[in-house]
Parts: sequence; structure tokens; C-alpha cells
Amino acid sequence: MKEQKTSRAVGHLFIISGPSGTGKTTLCSLVLSRMQDLLYSVSYTTRKPRRGEQDGIDYFFIEKTDFKRKIQNGRWAEWAKVHDNFYGTCADFIDKGLKSGHDILLDIDVQGTVQILKNYPESVTIFIMPPSLDILKKRLESRKTDSEGEIEQRLVNAANEIAQKNIYRHIIYNVNLSTTVVELTSLIEKYRHVPRLSNP
Ligand code: 5GP
Repeated sequence: MKEQKTSRAVGHLFIISGPSGTGKTTLCSLVLSRMQDLLYSVSYTTRKPRRGEQDGIDYFFIEKTDFKRKIQNGRWAEWAKVHDNFYGTCADFIDKGLKSGHDILLDIDVQGTVQILKNYPESVTIFIMPPSLDILKKRLESRKTDSEGEIEQRLVNAANEIAQKNIYRHIIYNVNLSTTVVELTSLIEKYRHVPRLSNP
């Protein structure tokens, strides 16, 4: 008898990108606090923790040698060098999560998004725009976490990322945080209402 294959529900992958300083991290944590069954993919990075950042919550902070070994072993769903540091998404976490029907949120850069789209073409990509580069500069200066040189580098990077924003399915301008949270949450909800089925 021919084996009957049935499709089953798999999770949605949501990718949030945008220049650093646009409020992405705050937005992601607000969205996650409103949707408790949405999983957050904690990235791995070789950058040093900033004040208040916790290992395993904000990032998994690892050494460059460890990061490079994981590249060789194919452990990343995507990885990129951003502002002289390496960042990566654990392939196992994504694959197991999606297969077991969980929806997952990723906060990664444009280079990473391009790689994810190759392997997970149905990902929902969302680009968060700052109201302007001037405002972005002011936000980066006021958070006092980066040196002048680092801010300059982040602004150059921001302009490059903004130039590629059209590869994203959705673009949201973060002018007012509370309005943006509502907009982002309802966008994600809309997709979550439609089940994704794996191919039989
Ligand atoms: P930050 O050092 O300010 O936390 O992050 C710098 C940039 O790296 C941000 O644009 C952030 O979205 C990006 N990023 C964080 N995690 C990952 C990751 O796992 N992969 C990629 N490609 N980018 C990441």
C-alpha cells in the first residue's frame, strides 16, 4: 500500500532588520512581551557585552575562534561580520523550532537576511526605518554606548542598509515607539493567523 503523506503545521520566521539605533531591540522585546508564544532567536556574537547585557538573553557572547569553528562545522543558519564583530544565528534552533510549529523572531542585519531568504524563502521580512539619519545620529549619541568612531561606522553602515531596504517585504518607520509597536504587532499577528504547512 502506498504510504500516505500528510502536511503538518510549521512555524513562521519573522526577520526584523534596520540600522542600529532605530529602536529594533526595544521593539522586539515589546513585541515578544505581547506574544508570549513567539520565540526569539538569541544570536551569537564575538562583540563584548555592553553594560546591562546578559549572556544567553541578549546574545550568547563567544570567542572568535569558537565562532569560526562553528562556521566550518556549518552550525550557522546565517552569519555576518558587522562593525568588525561576528554575529550568527544557530541553525539547529531555527530548524527545530520551525519544525515543531513555533513562530520565531530574528533581529539580524541585511547580509544575514539575504542568506536566510535563500534557505527559508517564506520568511516574513520587516525593515525598521529611522525617521531620518539626523535623528538616528542623535539617538546613537544619546544612548552613550559607542565611541565617536563607532557611531561614525554605524552611520555609514546605516546608509548602506537603508539602500537595500527594498529587499524587505515590509518597511515600517519608527517615528513614535508606541505606534510602531502596535503596527509591528498587528503585522506579525496577521501572518500568524494563517497556518504554514510543510510540504508532504
Ligand atoms: P549590536 O552590536 O548593536 O547589538 O548589533 C549590530 C547589528 O548586528 C544589528 O544590526 C543587528 O541586527 C545585527 N545582528 C545581531 N544579531 C545578528 C545575527 O545573528 N546575524 C546577523 N547577520 N546580524 C545580527
